Amino acid sequence: MSKHLGFLLVFLLLTIYGISQKVSQYPADELTRRGEVYFRFENTSQIDREKISKTISVDHATNREWVYAYANNKELDEFLKLNISYEILPHPGSLINPLMKDHLNPSGNLEWDFYPTYEAYMELMFQFEQLYPGICKTVSIGNTVQSRQLLCAKISANVNTTEAEPRFLYTSSMHGDETTGYVLMLRLIDYLLKNYGNDQLVTDLLNNTEIWINPLANPDGTYAGGNGSVCCATRYNANNIDLNRNYPDPQDGQHPDGNVWQPETEAFMALADSLSFVMSANFHGGAEVFNYPWDTWPQLHADDNWWQYVGREWADTVHFYSPAGYFDDLNDGITNGYAWYTLAGGRQDFMNYFHQCREVTVEISTVKLLPESELPAFWNYNFHSFLNYIDQSRYGLKGIVTDSASGNPLQADIEILNHDNNNSWITAENSGHYFRVLYEGSYDIKFSAPGHKSKTIEMVNIINRQSSHLNVQLAEGSDGITNADIQTLFTLSPNPAKDFIHLNYLGNQSIKCEIELSDVKGKIINSWLQIVEPDFSPIKINTRNLKSGYYFFRLTSGGLYYTNKIIVM
Ligand SMILES: [Zn+2]
Repeated sequence: MSKHLGFLLVFLLLTIYGISQKVSQYPADELTRRGEVYFRFENTSQIDREKISKTISVDHATNREWVYAYANNKELDEFLKLNISYEILPHPGSLINPLMKDHLNPSGNLEWDFYPTYEAYMELMFQFEQLYPGICKTVSIGNTVQSRQLLCAKISANVNTTEAEPRFLYTSSMHGDETTGYVLMLRLIDYLLKNYGNDQLVTDLLNNTEIWINPLANPDGTYAGGNGSVCCATRYNANNIDLNRNYPDPQDGQHPDGNVWQPETEAFMALADSLSFVMSANFHGGAEVFNYPWDTWPQLHADDNWWQYVGREWADTVHFYSPAGYFDDLNDGITNGYAWYTLAGGRQDFMNYFHQCREVTVEISTVKLLPESELPAFWNYNFHSFLNYIDQSRYGLKGIVTDSASGNPLQADIEILNHDNNNSWITAENSGHYFRVLYEGSYDIKFSAPGHKSKTIEMVNIINRQSSHLNVQLAEGSDGITNADIQTLFTLSPNPAKDFIHLNYLGNQSIKCEIELSDVKGKIINSWLQIVEPDFSPIKINTRNLKSGYYFFRLTSGGLYYTNKIIVM
């Protein structure tokens, strides 16, 4: 009792003085033991949100009250320099000691009211493949810092044959202590496999899509307390790095967090390089909301209306199957990422910008380590939305692009005119097949491929929850721009630059190009793909983080190039 009173007194004192005084205790023990701390500070108008989100790992912010965050040793030291009062909180991964099971039998009826030990998880992933060899294949996409495998279940009818189907990805728990999605994704694999041939929607999904499910993207974090329990899970990986700040960023370059790419990041980047995913969702915890692109900057995604439509559908469906109060954060369960809180180096923006995949971040439970008895209820709230969201990858515009003479498939670029921006265009696969999700409306669509004359198909109608088929043949030739032309089509200003430089385009047709910025020694600092369009506002290139000096700018498009020297002051 007296011990409790003591705690209460300390708590009251911290509450009373915490706001006006800096909390003095430095969590040295916690940082040594766990490698990371969880804390909060007041969300005032004085704080510089951009700066803070680049210093520590902001977990979430509540409306005008608190910002909750994680930091490793180095990040906390940087944060302390900002002189903001903060309060260390109990770590979300250690609040309960949940029921664990060390052996599972997927041929029986699992209740999913437990967490699997690491060994049980590994065994289960390979049991799925053994029990359902025609529709499930277990694929290892790489290893973690501590040499655990990163596993995906690939699920589709004729799973060993590549078919002309949209490819879809679910991935969970890249923040190792956000474990609800981990169990729900295992259960989704089990559900899809057991119901193929019995349930119409599941059968349709497996017959018409290729589904990849990675239940655990940061096993070192989830099992940081040992393979026997998810208690004492950490957010970060075994190098104490936040994997969801470790990806190349559309605005902040290749290493926005200042760290090298972690083995987990490299594994997912290699997966995205080798296979194109039409849609994806990335499960987290700590809030309950469908968070759609972009996180890094305020401009809206070209498909913002489609994002709001599929997000609203996700949240409304969840609301129908759950009690009031669940999944209603921000705009009743959906939010634009930047409007909530900005972050750089996230996987969502990486997949959208660099891989033309529509990936969303789904925050699935406010409580990060949910008591095991609540897991079945969260499944019931969510599984209709899990299935429905996969189903959405089948709709929009699809078809095949071929050479008009030979009939060979073309890896064409498909651009929605007066609509696409920030790499929202897509590229057809090697097989010439393409899949473009799109909100209903009438669109002009341009198809272009190297060595071919481009073609625009006007007024193509898209209806929600239907697919429009459009097969296109392109003739050999070119659109007629020469290298001399391209030199006169681009300018850079202001040059010398300070915080940014604008790329201006004077051409009268849209072109896709690759842009590279390198230093005087020729080392590439940043490179990205870009579509430039006529009458498009200048493309703003951030030079704020570059040291003063000379840089080389190079833009290439279909064998043509434009180069210029930039001076940064
Ligand atoms: Zn998270």
